[in-house]
Amino acid sequence: MTQPTLQRYELRDLIRADNFIDGKWTAAASGQRFQVTDPATGEVIAQVADSGAADFRAATDAAARAFPGWRDTLPKDRAAVLHRWHALIVENADALGRLISLEQGKPFAEGRGEVMYGASYVAWFADEATRIYGDIIPQQQRGKRMSAIKEPVGIVAAITPWNFPLAMIARKIAPALAAGCTVVGKPAEDTPLTALALAMLAHEAGVPPGALNLVSASREHAVEAVKDWLDDNRVRKITFTGSTPVGKYLARESAGTLKKLSLELGGNAPFIVFDDADLEAAAAGLMAAKFRNGGQTCVCPNRVYVQSSVYEKFADILTTRVAALKVAPATDPSAQIGPMINARAVEKIARHVDDAVARGARVLTGGKRLAELGQNWYAPTVLADATPEMQLSCEETFGPVVPLFRFNDEAEAIRVANDTPFGLASYFYSRDVRRIDRVSRLLEAGIVGINEGALASEAAPFGGVKESGYGREGSKYGLDDYLSLKYLCQGGLE
Ligand code: ADP
Repeated sequence: MTQPTLQRYELRDLIRADNFIDGKWTAAASGQRFQVTDPATGEVIAQVADSGAADFRAATDAAARAFPGWRDTLPKDRAAVLHRWHALIVENADALGRLISLEQGKPFAEGRGEVMYGASYVAWFADEATRIYGDIIPQQQRGKRMSAIKEPVGIVAAITPWNFPLAMIARKIAPALAAGCTVVGKPAEDTPLTALALAMLAHEAGVPPGALNLVSASREHAVEAVKDWLDDNRVRKITFTGSTPVGKYLARESAGTLKKLSLELGGNAPFIVFDDADLEAAAAGLMAAKFRNGGQTCVCPNRVYVQSSVYEKFADILTTRVAALKVAPATDPSAQIGPMINARAVEKIARHVDDAVARGARVLTGGKRLAELGQNWYAPTVLADATPEMQLSCEETFGPVVPLFRFNDEAEAIRVANDTPFGLASYFYSRDVRRIDRVSRLLEAGIVGINEGALASEAAPFGGVKESGYGREGSKYGLDDYLSLKYLCQGGLE
């Protein structure tokens, strides 16, 4: 059997500026639009639909109409559609990677890497669609048969941030569709174009009209528009990645209709370097974990704790590596660090660094804006002598800044690492097997990197504890967030 050929698009063909509702591209009812800009240069890339509550309602209406049909498709047919969507994403990895770089700013190699990473969730959940098992419960009474089956929760609302414009939304849409849910989604206002391009490919892959709907809105209109989903009884689940305050707001405001929630929120990840660690490996792991996407990820180490006896040596090794990073626009093939997403992001980074320096931190490298490149650029930075009083110790900096804190013993390292309301990722480097066992048990985090800086995988459960949220994305557990259990009890059998 010959496979149908996959359409390969140019970047310009992938740019869609309208909402995708019921399988059709539609302008906002108000006719309003907002600008999406290239963060490297400030140039306008597109004017996308600035939707309001009426558009969000239309998306829910379409998802409600499509739900019974999609729910009742055979799992293997849903899997086939998702596999075809995966193949189309991979076929268009170059153009999608360039689109990510254009609207988000990350170097092209990272943009393309994100495409493959996001696509891996689509393939994973395509396969998982066919493995949604239930249980036959051992018989409790004669004449009665009891079982538990899994059903899709219903309409899922997905709200995503700007730092991974493709991966964040793909890893919500894919499990939702695999489970038999229909989706309404709102990508971040800074980076809606990649998500809209994904919707175009999903449609081409055979996702039926109404099963996936995406609406864009400016920050100004998003609150009122999303509220329509929060109040709508037909929307049964919210899956959100973003800041902790907004996650708490969504949990509060959706309580009226008691929706199921998956919240992947802020991190403030600790990274601990013990004196028995391989310091070169620790520095390499820190570089990989910290500087991906210019430090704009929720699993980026935000607080680096180094044991006193190796502090200066580790600081030297790290500083040499950080000072050598190439900061350049995504169009430069040698770029390793791109622009920050917007002026607000650079303001926060500068505020954190200035506050740290005012409180006694030493700048080992960087520590300044790169105005010669534009308004959204900040130099990769290492700060020594960081202390808990500094803002960057309690808030995520979300930029290319490594503050080095000093600690004396293991108990102190655990205490300071856990001294945060957050608990997403954590990392430590050690060569002592007993310490590895102890520390991995004691760190209060959903994810622990042990002698490893690159943790992301579609096969692993990604998510946090404490105020970093709940729910898991990826892995064999990832579908559960989109399913509800139904208990069947059949009597009168004898
Ligand atoms: P960030 O600070 O990284 O932009 P946010 O949590 O503010 O993270 O935003 C993540 C997503 O949540 C974006 O899509 C944004 O538009 C959306 N968002 C932010 N505030 C609200 C709100 N009050 N109601 C609904 N959506 C919101």
